[in-house]
Amino acid sequence: MNATTEREPSTVEYRLTAMDRCDSCGAQAYIAAEVNGSELLFCAHHGRKYEEKLRDVATSWHDETARLVDAV
Ligand SMILES: [Zn+2]
Repeated sequence: MNATTEREPSTVEYRLTAMDRCDSCGAQAYIAAEVNGSELLFCAHHGRKYEEKLRDVATSWHDETARLVDAV
């Protein structure tokens, strides 16, 4: 059987927009973490800063910082 491997492992479905702002500094959010049923938004800077702590408690972690890399 020839399984089609059209998966794109590094592709994240981007859903954050310019309307989504970092909870800490108000910059555009590129990371969304779900903690206790509520969503926290962070810019790339604060996402990295809080990631270590939040990974333990977050039920989901959505990272769109790859967009920043693409834009460079
Ligand atoms: Zn921030």
